[in-house]
Amino acid sequence: MALTLVDTHCHLDDHRFQHDLPAVLQRATDAGLVRIVCIGTDLASSRASLELARAHEMISAVVGLHPNHVAEAAPGDWDAIVALANLPGVVGIGESGLDRHWDKTPFAIQEEYFARHLELARTLAKPIVIHNREADAETVRLLRDEFERHGPIRGVLHSCAADAPTVESCLAMGLHISFSGMITYKNANAIRAIAAMVPDDRLLIETDAPYLSPVPVRGQRNEPAYVAHTAAGVATARNDSVERIGEITTRNAIDLFR
Ligand SMILES: [Zn+2]
Repeated sequence: MALTLVDTHCHLDDHRFQHDLPAVLQRATDAGLVRIVCIGTDLASSRASLELARAHEMISAVVGLHPNHVAEAAPGDWDAIVALANLPGVVGIGESGLDRHWDKTPFAIQEEYFARHLELARTLAKPIVIHNREADAETVRLLRDEFERHGPIRGVLHSCAADAPTVESCLAMGLHISFSGMITYKNANAIRAIAAMVPDDRLLIETDAPYLSPVPVRGQRNEPAYVAHTAAGVATARNDSVERIGEITTRNAIDLFR
């Protein structure tokens, strides 16, 4: 059986791809990728992601303001994101969420923007792409607020490194869970245990390229083709075949991002 894969989260607008994007996309196709979801982190990268989606058949765009960038957003940026979000090439909203690791952005501002992104995603019926770093409890609290008022949330907890109760809460509220190359790291037993508990129909994989390169390419620039290594890591964690992990995560990605 041929391997079919989707990279549900990467940043191909990053300057590290500016000189060889066609080769990167060719390697992705050769590795079995049928779709790449390119994620915005500020207004410029959201625009760039949409341009990439328009230029390349296999790329889809997600637009939003990353929690680490909301403090530096200019007054008109949010309105511009809303305008972009309405466009047909845009398949989701984000990445948004909460981050306690880098404390450049006051937490109250992060929370306010996360709530705005959740509302925008709900209004447009597009999935929300959630970034959570060292903020499990607060992320669940904001999601629960949304869930209690508006019902199940369509979206994904990206590059999952959360604990089991957090993941269980996210699953109960309707979210998908996406694993990055971190699952291949030697010290990632906790992430592998979490990957084993996600139901088939909620499982996704990603690279977060150019960041988080998986073993055996750790230390190099990450790129979408390497999502095959993430798939292999997830397959090991779930005691499954890489082909079946590719098949179910591809189906889930297409269902979620339409
Ligand atoms: Zn990202």
